[in-house]
Parts: sequence; structure tokens; C-alpha cells
Amino acid sequence: MIPFLDLQRQFESIKQEVTQATEQVMQSGRFVSGKNVEEFEKEFAKYTQTKYCVGLNSGTDALQLSLDALGIKPGDEVITAGNSFIASALGASHLGAKVILTDINKDTYNMDPADLKKNITSKTKAIIPVHLYGQPAQMNEIKEIAGDIPIIEDSCQAHGAQYHGKKTGSIGTIGCFSFYPGKNLGAYGDGGAITTNDEELAEKIRILGNVGMNQKYYHKYKGYNSRLDEIQAAILRVKLKHLDTWNNKRNENAKLYNELLEGSSVVTPKEINNVKSVYHLYVVRTKEREKFQKYLQSEGVQTLIHYPIPINKLEAYSEIKQNLAITEEYSKEIVSLPMFAELTQEEIQKVTKTIKNYK
Ligand SMILES: *Cc1c(COP(=O)(O)O)cnc(C)c1O
Repeated sequence: MIPFLDLQRQFESIKQEVTQATEQVMQSGRFVSGKNVEEFEKEFAKYTQTKYCVGLNSGTDALQLSLDALGIKPGDEVITAGNSFIASALGASHLGAKVILTDINKDTYNMDPADLKKNITSKTKAIIPVHLYGQPAQMNEIKEIAGDIPIIEDSCQAHGAQYHGKKTGSIGTIGCFSFYPGKNLGAYGDGGAITTNDEELAEKIRILGNVGMNQKYYHKYKGYNSRLDEIQAAILRVKLKHLDTWNNKRNENAKLYNELLEGSSVVTPKEINNVKSVYHLYVVRTKEREKFQKYLQSEGVQTLIHYPIPINKLEAYSEIKQNLAITEEYSKEIVSLPMFAELTQEEIQKVTKTIKNYK
């Protein structure tokens, strides 16, 4: 069986470093708000070419706390892409704002700038482009359309990706990251962070994430308990050192997939100019997806779908009445093939050969 993702292979390659780092945390007796979080924040800010990073409990929280820090409230509108993970929309909803979705670009599968433009109103108070599958959204166009409206980059799938030489998470007002185990930079549990060059926003998010506390038991805001913990930070510090190597490996894997799938029945991903995708996912499109997936499964190739139901069609978002033509069409065709740094050439050859034999 060729797995969609195999985290054990990665663990084997960093076992000693991780075990040592976590043991040190346990010996220190300090599990929350310690040196590892502090150092990781510095290291991740540097990595993303930003001034500030605040460790948080998840990508979902990073998005919500960012919106909260920007003052999003009932009556406001927040725009994001319709094909994302639900968390791109949840923060706005939990703050009482209205979620507006855009359709996607046919080639990049990311927020369509033209559709963004159509959806902006005087109530639009934040825009959340998603760098889906690890490929940056069209940030220049989006920034130009946004004008003064703050942009929150959902970079939860794009740790290390670059757009015109800039790291994702450094281009908008705030960048949001998830360290969910399966992400390119993943913890061994939940984790997340925001990155920004805005000192005030960074400070506000830090306080919000620490139950609104600016001094011990003096609470400035009605905050959240959303701290990144020491064990996760220690693991992330080990893994961050390997991230570029792993991302390069994912790129090589994607290239090999592209080459070997030429002339096959599936549509392979396209990269826009001047970006470096980090291939969190390698997503192809096919007709009759169910049959395709069953066939691959029977041949020992595991696949998944990201995501089978667009946000506007989720039960949780039944209030959204928008129709999103491309998003909805593609949601029936997309399939994520096995993709991770440790995936071997032989495995990719087997996957692509299996696809080429598909009738
Ligand atoms: C994973 C993910 C999130 C949420 O991150 P969690 O850490 O799981 O809360 C948000 N947006 C996108 C695009 C994601 O892939």
C-alpha cells in the first residue's frame, strides 16, 4: 500500500533530536509559556521574514484571534475562498460577522481576484486569501483590490512558500499558520501561529491568546486559552531546521509526478509565475472520481479529497446562498495523490503507472 501520508518515516529520520528535545522539556518542569515557545517564535518569525510571531493553539485559533484583534464584529463582512477548509470561514462566524466566499482561479485553485473585487462592499473588514495546497494566491492583485482592507493570509498549508521572493505569511497584514501533524511543518498534536510586522497586532494577539491577560491576573480582554505549549514548540524547533529540505523534496516529487503523468487522463497542477509552491498537497482532477479512487485503492494507492464539499455547500454554512461555479465543479473532480517528503521515486512511479493504466 502506498499511503497518502506517512508520518512514521519522518519520525524515524529525526527520532533522536525530537526525543532529546522533548525529554529536556519534561525535565525542566515547565510546560507552558517557556523558553521553547519564545525561541520558536523568534526562529519562525525569521524564517517567514517577519518581525513578530506569536505561537497559538491551532491554525483555526490563529485565524479567529487575528480577526478579533482587527476588531471584526457583527455586521462586518469577511471574504475568503469557497474551496478552503472550514476554518478559513469559522473565525468570522464566531465573531458574529458574515462570511462572503469567492470563486477560484481555474489554474491555481486559489481566490479569484476578479471575483474578490465583485464581492467587496463598504462592510468588508477583512480578506482571507488561502494559499491552498501550498501554492501562494495572487497576492499582488489581491492587495491592489483590497486597498486599506486588512489581509489575513491563511498560510496553514504553505509553510515556506514564496510569492515574488516573499515568504507567505509576510505579504498581508497577518499570516496564519497551522502546525497540525500532517502540515508541512507539523507538531505532535495541535499548534498554530500568527506572523506579522505590526507590533500592536502581535501584542494584542499574544494577550488575546493568553486569556486576555497582560499581567498576571490582570485581564485586558475577554481572551482565549490558545497557547502553544513547550513540548510542541520544542518539536517544532527541531522540525523547522528540516523544513526547507522537506519542501524541496516535495517539489521534486511534484516535478516527477508532473513528468510521469503527462499524457494521462488526469489534469495536473499548474504553478503561476514567480511563486514557489511547497506542495502540501498534490491535487489532480479527473472525471468519475469515485471510480478513479476505488480503482487506485484496489491497486494499493491511497488518495483523499481536499475538500469534497465547498464551504457554501456545508451543512454548517446553510445560510450562505452563493453559488461558486468553478469551486463547485472542481470539488467533484479533485483528488489528492500521496505526497510527503519521504515518498520514494519508486512509489511515485507506481502511482503514475497505475493512473496511466486506468480506463
Ligand atoms: C489546517 C488548516 C486550517 C486549520 O488549522 P488547524 O491547526 O487544524 O486548526 C486552516 N486553514 C487551512 C487552509 C488549513 O489547511
